[in-house]
Amino acid sequence: MRTAAVILCAGASRRMGRNKLTLELGGKTVLRRSVEAFIGAGIRDMVLAFSEPARDEAERLAAEYGLKLAEGGSTRGESVYNALKVMDCDIVAIHDGARCLVSQEIILDSVASAAMYGSGVAAIPARDTLWKEGEILDRSAVMAAQTPQTFAFDKILAAYEKAVREGYEATDDCAVYRHMWGEAHFSKGSVANQKLTVESDMELFGPMCGEQRTGYGEDTHRFAEGRRLILGGVDIPYAMGLLGHSDADVLTHALIDAMLGAAAMGDIGRLFPDSSAEFKDICSLLLLERAWDRIKAAGYSLVNADATIVVQQPKLAPHIDAMRENIAKVLRCDVDRISVKATTPEHTGPEGNLECVTARCVCTLKR
Ligand code: MG
Repeated sequence: MRTAAVILCAGASRRMGRNKLTLELGGKTVLRRSVEAFIGAGIRDMVLAFSEPARDEAERLAAEYGLKLAEGGSTRGESVYNALKVMDCDIVAIHDGARCLVSQEIILDSVASAAMYGSGVAAIPARDTLWKEGEILDRSAVMAAQTPQTFAFDKILAAYEKAVREGYEATDDCAVYRHMWGEAHFSKGSVANQKLTVESDMELFGPMCGEQRTGYGEDTHRFAEGRRLILGGVDIPYAMGLLGHSDADVLTHALIDAMLGAAAMGDIGRLFPDSSAEFKDICSLLLLERAWDRIKAAGYSLVNADATIVVQQPKLAPHIDAMRENIAKVLRCDVDRISVKATTPEHTGPEGNLECVTARCVCTLKR
């Protein structure tokens, strides 16, 4: 069966006060999230019914995914009808672009119901006590209809043609379908499948759209005489220090690489080439600050970082907390998001042989 979808992005966003379909959640627009939910469910034949404020984003998505576009109308029903008129399929799922948290499961259940019964309207039983003009309604008899609302294409097209002929207006497709065909089937909905409606919804939707990414960084610097030993910005008294173009703070370098890795933004060598005089003997905490500014600008915040320094000598335990505090200060985060550990390699390998110090770090970012 040829299954297609209509994504509505022609609303006026009156209750939001700004176009909600082009707002970003977790680095993607609301409309993109809806479109990609359907693509994730295997539905690529899609028409976006847009109005002017969402035009650019709709055109971008249409070009990227090979989707069709239809002009939105002055009502929801008009927009749906305009989209249906340019379609040819067996089953059509109609979805509010602002319901960007829709899951594959909900989409597929709605489609399966339409394939079996001719209709599948995502809905959930009412949860709250419902009052109407001083009377409590029987909650068990009340369903809250969401989208997608999926139908046999011929039947919903005919229902919209009839609605247009008769001037029948409704706030959803289920009502239009019932106006011609009687009963409609409900399919699985969910509490999370909400429509982004008012400004305060952004706080609710934000964490549900967040993405976490983890990166790894590793660095080694050779021991040398006549150099300082700086780890995590702490100047540690020792007979030898670490060789490097900057202050050779191997811990901070591994952390920078882990953070850049999580954001897929390259590595420390690309950002701060050691061919550049600007970085000669520079305090690596300054490099950390600059790298973090870039990562933050890309929309990330820090979840945590965990580093291990492999070092035979000197003992680092007395300095660990100062390192954590230095790093937390630069990243402007709580110190408990930063973990630094040290391990001695039992005189094995180049670290155990006092040739070098190695640091390894993992870091998780979210946006
Ligand atoms: Mg280095």
